Amino acid sequence: MTIVRVALPVAVDQPFDYWLPAGLAVHAGHVVRVRLGARRLAGVVLAVDDRSDVAAERMRSIDAVADVDPLPDDVLALCRFVASYYQAAIGLVHALAVPPLARGPARERTVAGAVGLTPAGCTALPALVARAPAARALFERLRDAGELDAGAIAALSPHARRTLRSWIAAGQATTASAARPVGAAQAGRNDAQRVASAAIDGARGGYVPFLLQGVTGSGKTEVYLDAAARAIAAGGQVLMLVPEIGLTPALEARVRAALPGVRVATLHSGLGDGARRRNFDAAACGDARLVLGTRLAVFTPLPDLALVVVDEEHDGSFKQQDGVRYHARDVAVWRAHARGVPIVLGSATPSLETFANARDGRYRRLVLAHRADPRARLPTIVLVPDRDARFADGIGPALRDALARGLARGEQGLVFINRRGFAPSLKCASCGWDAQCVRCSARLVLHRHPPGLACHHCGHRERVPPACPSCGNVDLLPQGFGTQRLERHLRALFPAARIARIDRDTTRAIGSFDAVRQRMHDRELDLLVGTQMLAKGHDFPRLTTVGVLGADNALYSADFRATERLCALLMQVAGRAGRAEHPGEVIVQTDFPDHPVYAALRAHDYDAFAARLLEERAAAGLPPVTHVALLTGEAHDRLDVERFLDAAHDAARQAAQDTGVTVYPPVPALMARRAGLERAQMLVQAARRAELSQMLPAWHAALRQLRGRKVRWAIDVDPAGF
Ligand code: ADP
Ligand code: ZN
Ligand code: ZN
Repeated sequence: MTIVRVALPVAVDQPFDYWLPAGLAVHAGHVVRVRLGARRLAGVVLAVDDRSDVAAERMRSIDAVADVDPLPDDVLALCRFVASYYQAAIGLVHALAVPPLARGPARERTVAGAVGLTPAGCTALPALVARAPAARALFERLRDAGELDAGAIAALSPHARRTLRSWIAAGQATTASAARPVGAAQAGRNDAQRVASAAIDGARGGYVPFLLQGVTGSGKTEVYLDAAARAIAAGGQVLMLVPEIGLTPALEARVRAALPGVRVATLHSGLGDGARRRNFDAAACGDARLVLGTRLAVFTPLPDLALVVVDEEHDGSFKQQDGVRYHARDVAVWRAHARGVPIVLGSATPSLETFANARDGRYRRLVLAHRADPRARLPTIVLVPDRDARFADGIGPALRDALARGLARGEQGLVFINRRGFAPSLKCASCGWDAQCVRCSARLVLHRHPPGLACHHCGHRERVPPACPSCGNVDLLPQGFGTQRLERHLRALFPAARIARIDRDTTRAIGSFDAVRQRMHDRELDLLVGTQMLAKGHDFPRLTTVGVLGADNALYSADFRATERLCALLMQVAGRAGRAEHPGEVIVQTDFPDHPVYAALRAHDYDAFAARLLEERAAAGLPPVTHVALLTGEAHDRLDVERFLDAAHDAARQAAQDTGVTVYPPVPALMARRAGLERAQMLVQAARRAELSQMLPAWHAALRQLRGRKVRWAIDVDPAGF
């Protein structure tokens, strides 16, 4: 009798045992369908055994083996690492690696695009194929035709594809595009770019972590693409992670243009199940040579993985905020290490984690110090008082004049504010009442399109009250500015300008963001107003004036990462201005012009600011100088949360004994109430990662024993903020 140990997508830390029915054969990595109670689930086989602790009469059989290739050993190892590092349920982690199983269309498996022989193949293959008629026929066809496309290969023989892949892996054949000299048909490369991609290429075949630090517009993407082209030409696969799906279409187009004939597979949540499954299969069987994807793509099976790239590595969206709270950049680094391949972390404003790793010599730093376009200069940064602007509907005189000058020259402008809606609050002029969410400790945001008050934390909506609910005064005033209010004001200021707004309210529909970007490119728009969605990865040559509003808000934030994020964001936003021959100007409205974050921005000196932040973190004992895990708990009743966290605190002190881990007392969460739940948290902190990894399993085990049934809790290792 055979027992199969299956990781199921439920928040339980153990796998489940099932019988293996006669006639089925499985091994670790197979995806199987089973029943758990009344539910039907798909899970991943972790092991096959001949004994079980589960009573035989209580054990069920597995129902079927799913029609998907088993997860390879390295992905299984990756899942084990993620489960243990992040203290996450083993089944939830494995579920991240399982592709959509819906009965999709039949799999198409082809070698991507056209394939040709390399000089090495022309020399070595005749001897090798002499006794293998099918391989010899393939070789002769290739030699005679120069190259063969996917259809011709498929028509040759069922094994041609596999043979070709082994030739490609051995450097004897190559996809046709890669056979061309790298970069020949593309825009030039400057010295810094060539040095960087040569360094990455030189690391092929071993684990070398790189920080590619390049100012905005310095041409980091070209470096990724050159390194990718070489890795692919040598028979490898490339994994390229990007922060958000909003950015993938633009990058995807650039990747495809730079690697014609190379099969590129995208993996992100914007794809339907069928497409995701097809792309997953293409990556897993080796047909797709480059996988471009978001966070989740880090788990994709890649038999020939040769290079990992993480673009905008500082971006917060690589960290999953619920369920398995993994950080895709860090998981990617672990994977590159385990597979023995180089990894490139690219950013203009590296996370302090990566910055410290580079400073301490753990990562190799490659620098692109100048904008790639020789005509482009980094923009001039001007700081102007925000006070003046508050009396002028948000846009102060300096920004108004700069936008007007730009428009008069036929150039484009962008106004950035990190607040959607019309105004961030609605206040009574007489008694001071302001509109609060009934379910959160947060103000309601006033919206005009569609009208109403909305909570940006829980989604709660209500109508605007006709009078103050507290004193009856009808004079309710919008306080502060959001994108809608700025848009209205810009239309009043510049009636002839063509203006579009970009925020989560206007871009719900897939593709709408792309459409606006296209119109901006085609110069059908003069002004854009929007949130941080505008900050990243867009390249508008005619955009010269950028206004930044409301940045000061982050300076008051209690979150320890707030200024790091602000600096990255400001540099990204500023980086949109003046990317081609037209010099850019960035107007920042602030009442704290002496704050170091603005000094850094003005001097375009991220390094000095990052070094200073690192010192502050060291003084305060915060990451990345220390390593922390956060326990969060939430419940309807505050007493339940407090009781749970008090018990968790005792358990933490127990588990921390003799480990060097510091345990901090429970405190209310930054947002003490959200969606009707009371929230609190506590922190454990260690000087060394190993101390934390020693303490966490014991603490986690103790937490599971606590009677916290009414409390929803989670451990967050390397939390995004607190
Ligand atoms: P980054 O990602 O570093 O902000 P990009 O890779 O988007 O920068 O490149 C910015 C712009 O510069 C792009 O339009 C790109 O085509 C162009 N570019 C890249 N390398 C060069 C080069 N060597 N010479 C001229 N233009 C370049
Ligand atoms: Zn009132
Ligand atoms: Zn709310």
